[in-house]
Amino acid sequence: VPESVRAGIDVGGTKIHAMAFAGDGAVIFDKRIVTPKDYGAIVQAVAVLADETGAARIGIGAPGSSSPVNGLWRNANIVVCNGQPFHQDLAQTIGIPIKTENDANCFALSEAFDGAGQGHDVVAFFTIGTGLGGGLVVGGRLIGGAHGEAAEFGHTGLPWPDAEDLPLIPCFCGKNGCTEMYVSGTGLSKDYALRNGVTLTGLEIIRRARAGEDVAIAALTRLQLRFARVCGNLVNMIDPDIIVMGGGLAQLPELVEELSPIAMRYSFSGTAEPKIARAKHGDSSGARGASLLWQQRS
Ligand SMILES: [Zn+2]
Repeated sequence: VPESVRAGIDVGGTKIHAMAFAGDGAVIFDKRIVTPKDYGAIVQAVAVLADETGAARIGIGAPGSSSPVNGLWRNANIVVCNGQPFHQDLAQTIGIPIKTENDANCFALSEAFDGAGQGHDVVAFFTIGTGLGGGLVVGGRLIGGAHGEAAEFGHTGLPWPDAEDLPLIPCFCGKNGCTEMYVSGTGLSKDYALRNGVTLTGLEIIRRARAGEDVAIAALTRLQLRFARVCGNLVNMIDPDIIVMGGGLAQLPELVEELSPIAMRYSFSGTAEPKIARAKHGDSSGARGASLLWQQRS
């Protein structure tokens, strides 16, 4: 197997996806399997896929991250992995050098490398689906942060809260008013339930908004304004060259094409209009980004 083969595996809640690329970038392996329920079976399944790619080393993306304090996996929605020495177990079972990384960081790396962020120096990435994930790539390098917590945009406070945002919604992380509680499918669902007394999925609320339901349209408008504030706030912190949007809700023009002029109003000058684009690689971004973990610029 040539050294130039790069391979990545994306461990998701429903699917595990492995890809391998030749030196020229051509896809030479692409396989998805159903994620097993049990922790040990997940580790085994990843090891089998890693072997099948034929790579000499591999990158692995998954929800959550390894604690720099005790090495145990944390914050994953694949809850069987939480509290487990996931990285060490994978390394031992796979038997070739591995790197593990948060999945949203892998998406960001993939988009910065040859996706919507290609050619830009500072790429901020959001994945907006059930939750709100983030990633930050500067000069081709993933910014993990001193404690592995950089670009956790979903757990920053919702910027400039107004009467419509109060009282602040408690987050599962223990704080009140995290952005994810407002800007996500879950956030849209909570917002709608608060005003209409009915709990619907984010997708159902979007469907109703498209069908002309006033309460749903208002909820979608609040989602847009809140996300515009998040992007304006991000401009005031790092002023990224481009903001790339992935995840299910990134299909909404309200959160991509229509967002820049609204976000601009929240920049300090009021005139900094961020470039916002939709992710290019869709659901293969995780495996693509994981395959780049060994070859980031350092
Ligand atoms: Zn939180």
